[in-house]
Amino acid sequence: QPLCVLVLGMAGSGKTSVVRRLSTYLASARKPFHTINLDPAVKSVPFMPYIDIRDTVNYKEVMKQYGLGPNGGIVTSLNLFSTMFDDVLKLIAKKEDHLDYIIFDTPGQIEVFNWSASGPIIAGALASVYPTVILYVVDTVRSNNTQTFMANMLYACSILYKYKLPFIIAFNKIDITDCKFAFEWMQDFEVFQDVLAEESTFSSNLTRSMSLALEEFYCNIKACGVSSFTGEGMADLVEKLAEGAIEYEEYRAEYEHLKE
Ligand code: GDP
Ligand code: MG
Repeated sequence: QPLCVLVLGMAGSGKTSVVRRLSTYLASARKPFHTINLDPAVKSVPFMPYIDIRDTVNYKEVMKQYGLGPNGGIVTSLNLFSTMFDDVLKLIAKKEDHLDYIIFDTPGQIEVFNWSASGPIIAGALASVYPTVILYVVDTVRSNNTQTFMANMLYACSILYKYKLPFIIAFNKIDITDCKFAFEWMQDFEVFQDVLAEESTFSSNLTRSMSLALEEFYCNIKACGVSSFTGEGMADLVEKLAEGAIEYEEYRAEYEHLKE
């Protein structure tokens, strides 16, 4: 069975670029895979998707027909698409014996996938049949300060508890900024506290207590650094995906109920 990889992350974190780079990497490693584009509003997709939501729903038409703005248009397009997800599963089933990975790129704005009905429907439909993991892409450059880092981790945390699937964080854009600081902040609470101690604002007090709560979260996730520009870190990422697949198998029984 192929491993389904749901790529999530804030707008601009580099989801699409990571999918593209991972495709190139898997192709050169001769690992069979397919990509699926779930972003109805994207202008051009820099990889060749096996299934493209844009072939099924016309985002511009949906906006016009339902009198919606851009975000509403994306949400409704995804909702429409998720009602036809059985067909997607059939298309995947046809190929499943020949694939190691199926990689899903999601809309730029993570809120759309996370807070609409379609996100859990799609994730649940996949996870009830296939090993499925979440790949959460983080913009390392923008997360280089305590507040943004914390905000991003809290968001990741909310996704982990919503989907309850194996969770891998990819700190992207390490060609610009090394992600060593992020690993330190996650592994050693004291280091993060020390950085916070230099600030003494209200929000850093808040951040301090939040970071205590996040310790538990950090124990449950796997993280790696990547650059979708240079391709650095791809081998490590693929290794983390494999660990995620093993974790899925451990809890497999818990995902079967998601079928309905
Ligand atoms: P998405 O909205 O999450 O799909 O993000 P995109 O893949 O469209 O990337 C957003 C921006 O970040 C684009 O301008 C990319 O060129 C840039 N970007 C993505 N990955 C990297 C990376 O590894 N390094 C650098 N320097 N820029 C990146
Ligand atoms: Mg994108």
